[in-house]
Amino acid sequence: MAIRTIRLKDDEILRKKSREVKEINEKIITLLDDMAETMYAAEGVGLAAPQVGILKKVVIIDIGEGLIELINPVVVETRGERVWEEACLSVPGETGKVLRPEYCRVEALNRNGEKIVVEGEELLAIALCHETEHLDGILYIDKIIDEE
Ligand code: ZN
Repeated sequence: MAIRTIRLKDDEILRKKSREVKEINEKIITLLDDMAETMYAAEGVGLAAPQVGILKKVVIIDIGEGLIELINPVVVETRGERVWEEACLSVPGETGKVLRPEYCRVEALNRNGEKIVVEGEELLAIALCHETEHLDGILYIDKIIDEE
């Protein structure tokens, strides 16, 4: 495993769309392992592959309840609305308020190629939305709302 360099907000790779993973090969497994090491070293709760310079639909999340690995994640349902103070490893030292759903459900593949469903509320819902948006080249700073 290796720690990879986290790309910062002005890096144009963060604005590109990631490609679907067609085959879960050794490269993808190494990517997942490296992303986990990188995320934990940076004390983040989520990381998307473009943040380490790889335009593939791979996301990891750990909100303190164990590591979740998502390959080709798709948000299939959201419910509710809430304002959340967000941060991102690609935007160090900053936070901003973003309107997010209260509930989010994602379908994806795990590293064994099995279909999985992950649903979450609060921080997990935010992380699911935030990380999958990275795969579309969207950063939370695009969506900051004014403070009331
Ligand atoms: Zn982020």
